[in-house]
Amino acid sequence: MLSGVALAPSLIERDRGLLWHPYAPLDGPAPYAVLGAAGTRLHLQAADGRNFEVVDAMSSWWSAIHGYRHAALDAALQAQAGAFSHVMFGGLTHAPAVELAEMLVEMAPAGVEHVFFADSGSVSVEVALKVAVQYQRAAGHRRRTRFLALAGGYHGDTFAAMSVCDPVDGMHSEFPGLVAPQLFLPRPPRAHLVGGELRSDPLEVAAWVAILEDTVRTHRDELAAVVMEPVLQGAGGMHLYAPECVHAARHVASEYGLLLLLDEIATGFGRTGKLFASEWADVTPDIMCVGKALTGGYLTLAAMLCSRRVAAVITGSPLRALLHGPTFMANPLACAVAVASLKLLRSEPWQGQLATLQTGLTAALAPAAALPQVRDVRVLGGVGVIQLHTPVDVPALTLVALEHGVWARPFRDLVYTMPPYISTAADLATIGSGLCAAVATVHG
Ligand SMILES: *Cc1c(COP(=O)(O)O)cnc(C)c1O
Repeated sequence: MLSGVALAPSLIERDRGLLWHPYAPLDGPAPYAVLGAAGTRLHLQAADGRNFEVVDAMSSWWSAIHGYRHAALDAALQAQAGAFSHVMFGGLTHAPAVELAEMLVEMAPAGVEHVFFADSGSVSVEVALKVAVQYQRAAGHRRRTRFLALAGGYHGDTFAAMSVCDPVDGMHSEFPGLVAPQLFLPRPPRAHLVGGELRSDPLEVAAWVAILEDTVRTHRDELAAVVMEPVLQGAGGMHLYAPECVHAARHVASEYGLLLLLDEIATGFGRTGKLFASEWADVTPDIMCVGKALTGGYLTLAAMLCSRRVAAVITGSPLRALLHGPTFMANPLACAVAVASLKLLRSEPWQGQLATLQTGLTAALAPAAALPQVRDVRVLGGVGVIQLHTPVDVPALTLVALEHGVWARPFRDLVYTMPPYISTAADLATIGSGLCAAVATVHG
């Protein structure tokens, strides 16, 4: 890794007031400068010049599953750059796109057979929503233009994606008239991992399913699709919920002619312990979105996948086409590194890696449950969550975690980790002890 060049203070100085960071004011807390990243380690420098060589507990927002500077991913990127870095996808095709699409279809639940590449998760959700509406119109249901989504969901930041995010947390009220009014179900009842199964209260599940059925029955003529993140709501609250709810959504959607759209952007590619989280419910979606970990965290790329039936209905309509086409669609560099990342998933025993993560995180986060400020501790696959009783003091907690060797980025009342799959037992122990110490120190 790079040695600590004392450039960070001036870099951070130039950044502040010039650059917006996610969901932050221009004059928000100073960011840390990244001097290097390799494997599971980040080398950061603070505005005061302090250096931190730390374990990454975030995988750069769920994406860097194989860690940083992976030799195979670096090589794939370099090889593609040596051929061509980008070409338009209108009228042209190339090996990285075709190979990646073939791999995705092979990995996806049976029946999901077609691929549209988008340049970010949010855009793939926009495309998925369009596909649902195009499908319904082509099938003769021209009034079916709304969506049934879940309270506590998160699907991205563009306007249509926002419209299916939690209506309160999604800040719909800040953009009056611009966010389409959708229908929402309550957050599905929570589940806990017990002996490898996701368990929840059957009475709570039955009550939720009754609301689902009732809502769909009442609104079937205006609904195009049910939209959900299967089993784990991520940015909307790190909420684990009953797989039976995904199963029921599949059933009810089929019964009333709605499509089931599963957003696997956060959960896809093994993060929950299954290749796709829909497997927890043994469900095949009509439409699914993947992103985040798709390129192993190297480049921005996402995809909308859909079933043969959905594609056939759209293709059989007078329009025939799917009405979307980004400039950087199927960017060859992104596709090439995604192919390499998926090949790694295949060749490395990701199930074993995820088992190590789940066991390691369960043990490492367990001490947090004894802290008075902690409301709940939960783990699923490579996701570990410490939920507090109060909102987290993010800058303070981040600093103390860094001092304990961990990069974390909490939000709301949630201190969570989603480490790279290559994390060792020692990395996971560091993450656990660092997060517990940070919670105890900052909120003690
Ligand atoms: C991150 C995320 C998105 C949005 O993806 P971007 O690449 O940030 O646009 C959509 N859905 C889910 C479930 C996500 O976690």
